[in-house]
Amino acid sequence: MRHPLVMGNWKLNGNKQMTGDLIDGLRKALSGVDGCDVAIAPPVIYLDQAKHALSGSHISLGAQNVDINLSGAFTGDISAEMLKDIGAKYIIIGHSERRTYHKESDEFIAKKFAVLKEAGLIPVLCIGETESENEAGKTEEVCARQIDAVLNALGADAFKDAVIAYEPIWAIGTGKSATPVQAQAIHQFIRQHIAKKDAAIAEQVIIQYGGSVNDKNAAELFTQPDIDGALVGGASLKADAFAVIVNAAA
Ligand code: 13P
Repeated sequence: MRHPLVMGNWKLNGNKQMTGDLIDGLRKALSGVDGCDVAIAPPVIYLDQAKHALSGSHISLGAQNVDINLSGAFTGDISAEMLKDIGAKYIIIGHSERRTYHKESDEFIAKKFAVLKEAGLIPVLCIGETESENEAGKTEEVCARQIDAVLNALGADAFKDAVIAYEPIWAIGTGKSATPVQAQAIHQFIRQHIAKKDAAIAEQVIIQYGGSVNDKNAAELFTQPDIDGALVGGASLKADAFAVIVNAAA
């Protein structure tokens, strides 16, 4: 039985005050929640503050990126060991914003996946198609290619204790979520695609949906059998809305 994961991706938002206040609000709003794993990924500079503020709660710490190198002359980068040292557990990689603004390739993202597994951290691999790819009927092809980069480099075993977040780019920050039926179809495709290599791992891998998830549409998305929680952007910056989403998954 898969345990859903609802994770907040704060992106480039917040400051010390907001980090403290939001975590306080989340701790209050989520104190009784069971049946759903919860994580937040603040900007890297606030991870240590967040870790302390989360102490004793069941909310896990996540991060939004990792470098492929472990140490050395790589100015500005953060390693998997550093993220582990600070107490992060779930690390987002391959987000479409990094694929677009930082030109990250499928192969580069597969290397990030590898360093995270090596460090014992949980990769949250974001995949998803653009609007034009969607309109051209290429959604499955794009998602398969993005997953194959990891499957080919690391094998299906890599997806044991890993998370996939299907985030159609046209749904991110647009208020235009995929419908539950649309999302379910592609989640099922993703699971079946991995099952071609290893049925047991496909059955246990968490596949989150992301893209304009909010307190109104979450419950219906989570009724779908292959949607195992959500990766939430904008709505994760409000404790009450995020709590409604978590409760819908629990
Ligand atoms: P929104 O929830 O703001 O659409 O962002 C989704 C996302 O990109 C999460 O990683």
